[in-house]
Amino acid sequence: MNHGAGGESMQDFLSKHIFSHLPAMESDVPLSSFDDSAVVDGIVFTTDGHTVKPLFFPGGDIGSLSVAGTVNDISVIGGQPLALSLSMIIEEGLDIDIVDRVMQSIGRTSQDCGVPVATGDTKVMEAGAIDQMVVVTSAVGRRSPYLDHNIAVAKDYRPVDSQWMTDDNVREGDAIIVSGTMGDHGVALLSFREGYGFESTLQSDVAPLNGLIESVLKVGGVTAMKDPTRGGLANTLNEWCHKSSVGMEVVDADIPRNDTVVNACDLLGIDPLSIGNEGKVVIACVPDMAEAVLKAVRSHPRGANAAMIGYATKKYDRVVVRTEMGGRRIMEAPVGDPVPRIC
Ligand code: MG
Repeated sequence: MNHGAGGESMQDFLSKHIFSHLPAMESDVPLSSFDDSAVVDGIVFTTDGHTVKPLFFPGGDIGSLSVAGTVNDISVIGGQPLALSLSMIIEEGLDIDIVDRVMQSIGRTSQDCGVPVATGDTKVMEAGAIDQMVVVTSAVGRRSPYLDHNIAVAKDYRPVDSQWMTDDNVREGDAIIVSGTMGDHGVALLSFREGYGFESTLQSDVAPLNGLIESVLKVGGVTAMKDPTRGGLANTLNEWCHKSSVGMEVVDADIPRNDTVVNACDLLGIDPLSIGNEGKVVIACVPDMAEAVLKAVRSHPRGANAAMIGYATKKYDRVVVRTEMGGRRIMEAPVGDPVPRIC
């Protein structure tokens, strides 16, 4: 299960047993860059398989999750999502009402974010071969019409190497902004699945963010973006450190967290910063534009709790958290996933 959990053992598994068999490709953002989307001849392209259990959870379901997750992966690299593909793999005997409810949710979410399903495939497997349903979504996008403006603004302050919002594009001094509370999706799902009793007040944050991200690019100065899904904020910041060869210093008290999520995590012995989100984005931007970018995120309904949590620094070579007591601790990337099958 750890090989599919999004952490370091998955990275290791992918390099040794998945990527090693695939021929290298020439492109702006190739497979080997491990970014949220690839860019092939100017086309932004990504895919996701969704195995969430249960199919319906507080705040969302496998349908809204599939559309949002794929739209967000196109958006965070600076793409404008254009169309989705949808592959439904259904277990024999699954209640038809469940299929209808999932499809209704896919239709609604697709309508909400303005990204239609343009092609698809449906298969049924014999009872027991899969667990109810697997939904695989891919998407294509074009370069956001606001990405060149965004990069031009950043270049007023420092050189920018990448033409896309890739993980290797963070530089010393960049401000780090998160669009809202961390850990909501994974903790809401876990609590609901295991019956821990927090589900009355906890909701997944699952949501497409293409609108929010477009308003941020219009402001400009953003250098990298990532949706902190599996592995949460800890994984996102460590990936940026590793790929951008820079350290990070973040202030623990400035990282937004929902009180119920914190209480649930304390009880379960898990860290909300290592838990997946499905409606949040982490943004790096040149420090002079941080206030304006933060304001743009906050003025969007999905970014009301956004905060600036720290900055990239050469002082460290890893993610360092300043605690409320004035101490410092290292924020490691999670090795496995404390909450499996949340996406
Ligand atoms: Mg992603």
